[in-house]
Amino acid sequence: MLHDTYLTKVPLHSYLMSKLLLVEDEPSVRMGLRLSLSKAGHQVLEAATAAEAWEKMANADLVILDWMLPDEPGVRLLERLRRDGRYENLPVLMLTARASEGDRVEGLTRGADDYLTKPFSTPELIARVQALLRRVGKSGRLERGALSLDLERHQAFLDGHSLELTRREFELLAFLARHPGRVYTREELLERVWGQEFLGTARTVDQHIAQLRDKLNEDPKAPRFLETLRGVGYRFREY
Ligand code: CA
Repeated sequence: MLHDTYLTKVPLHSYLMSKLLLVEDEPSVRMGLRLSLSKAGHQVLEAATAAEAWEKMANADLVILDWMLPDEPGVRLLERLRRDGRYENLPVLMLTARASEGDRVEGLTRGADDYLTKPFSTPELIARVQALLRRVGKSGRLERGALSLDLERHQAFLDGHSLELTRREFELLAFLARHPGRVYTREELLERVWGQEFLGTARTVDQHIAQLRDKLNEDPKAPRFLETLRGVGYRFREY
C-alpha cells in the first residue's frame, strides 16, 4: 500500500500530518504561503486575526505567527499561548517586518521558538518550519502519568514496562497523547492517524481503541488514559 510505504520512510511528525496554523492578516501573503506550505506537504489552517487564531489553535501542531495583526499584536497572542497549559509547548515561528535586535530578543524571550524577518524567502520559511517540527519530534518523549512514549523508537512504556503495540496502535496512542484533553471524533482520528487515503470506518477506530485499552490494562469504568465521550469520540486524559 503506497500510503504505508510512505509512512515507514518519514519521521513521526510528518505522518501524523502536522497541521500548521498560519496567522497573517494580509490575504495575498497568506495565500502565497499557504500554497507553498501545502506543496511542501503540510496541512495549513489559516487565520487573519488573533481572535480567529485562538479559535483554531487547538488543531495546530505548529504556529506561524505574524507580528502585526489587526486586533492584537502577534507577540501578545504568543504571551497568552505560553500562559495556557494546553499550548505552552506548541512550536511558534514569528514573522515580523521589524528587524531591530530589540524585537528579535523580545519575540524570543516571550516564547517564540524561531523568528523570521520580512522579507524572507519561502524556501527559508519551509526549512525553518521543518527544522522546528523535527526538533519537536526528536525531543520526542511524551510522559503522561504512568505512560511514557518514545516517539523516535516507537516504543511505549507503562509503569516502566514495554508494551507490544502495532504501529497503528502506537500512532493512535501517540496522536491522542500529544493532544491531551482534546476530544477527537472517529472521523478526525481516521483522517489524522490513518490518513485521507485510508478507506476505513469508525469501527476501525473503535477496534484500535479497544485493543489499546486492553494492552494498557484500562479499567473500563475509570480509564487512566483513553476516555470515551459518548456520541462524540475519544480523548486522552489530561495530566
Ligand atoms: Ca500583518
